Amino acid sequence: MASGSNPFPLYVGGANGVEPALGQAPRITSLLIKPASAVCNLDCSYCFYLDRDADPYKALPARRMTSETLERLVDTYLFYSYPNSVFAFQGGEPTLAGLPFFEKLVELQKQYGRDGQTVSNALQTNGILLDKNWCDLFRAYQWLLGVSLDGPEEVNDRYRFNKEGRGTWKRVMESVALLKKNGVEFNILCVLSQANVDRPKDLYRFYRGLGIDHIQFIPLAEFDAEGHPMPFTISPEQYGRFLCELFDLWWPDRRKVRIRLFDNIAEALAGQKPGTCTMHETCDSYVVVEYNGDVYPCDFFVEGGWKLGNVTLDSWPEIARRTRRYSFASKKTLAHPECQVCEYQSICHGGCPKFRHGPHKKFEDLDYFCAAYKMIYGRSVEPLRAEVRRMMR
Ligand code: SF4
Ligand code: SF4
Repeated sequence: MASGSNPFPLYVGGANGVEPALGQAPRITSLLIKPASAVCNLDCSYCFYLDRDADPYKALPARRMTSETLERLVDTYLFYSYPNSVFAFQGGEPTLAGLPFFEKLVELQKQYGRDGQTVSNALQTNGILLDKNWCDLFRAYQWLLGVSLDGPEEVNDRYRFNKEGRGTWKRVMESVALLKKNGVEFNILCVLSQANVDRPKDLYRFYRGLGIDHIQFIPLAEFDAEGHPMPFTISPEQYGRFLCELFDLWWPDRRKVRIRLFDNIAEALAGQKPGTCTMHETCDSYVVVEYNGDVYPCDFFVEGGWKLGNVTLDSWPEIARRTRRYSFASKKTLAHPECQVCEYQSICHGGCPKFRHGPHKKFEDLDYFCAAYKMIYGRSVEPLRAEVRRMMR
């Protein structure tokens, strides 16, 4: 790679593994922590975490972060990330680590945090284990909570099953009611699969009917060993149509309802760094911390070959400047010929390497959802640009 196009000039000619001087690495700005690894109390049929061949911890059934690892993680990361520290918890299902684990986390944050330090906690959950005690913790410390719910009952229960193979909708709706009753703020994460991608109006009305005003849609794209889409995988055209119809439904509500992708496009148009890594220039804004302290550059690439270190053995500056981190981050800069001439390149930056790598295991491929991105950028960029201008005025 020519040095002019390399976002990490210190790594030009660094194939011998020599690491750059301290202080030169892009900072790790948030952590995605998996206190129960990929272990889950549900058995959703579309879940890519379950029984993944590349999962380095697959053979280990009971995976929980110990209090020693937690303490080391909190202590060192609060010091490294001062003054703004972001801890996000995900799984598998993170609540399997138990409420005392998270109460201990908050205690440690109080113990090791310094004057002037802002600490934010977020948690993504399937909602199955939530009760009043969880609500008290989330509300007391203003956690950002995300609940997975794919829409009305017949939609959600097409793929989201418990271990007995039964639908989960009723139990999740009880948790949604509990969160509302206890004044906990939360948003909804909806996976777009063949069950719901052709029903944007039904989904939007369903969530609005529940009083939800913050929604994130995640497109599902998993492929078999030959690179063929799995039955629940959506096509780029379906995803594009969904987003365009959703945009039209949302537009009259734009000042009161937040749809994450539309927020992110507006952020990019306003000259800010969008809140989603898929629209960043490189893949290095966060890292994943596994239950045993192992660190990886992305939730989709928790694989032995991408391990960056371990929080109980390595310092954060050491992890941040690992050659592998640069190597992974720069996968996104392999611009496909179509991206090089694309009018949306400065917003999209080639999409997500997971969706390039998915069908054929090649980072050089075009993002599987490219056609969808072009559809929604074509539909949304001009109105959002005008809106951003109005708001900035
Ligand atoms: S591969 Fe995709 S999800 Fe992972 S860091 Fe890069 S853009 Fe984000
Ligand atoms: S819309 Fe498609 S061609 Fe354009 S930058 Fe994104 S992935 Fe590349």
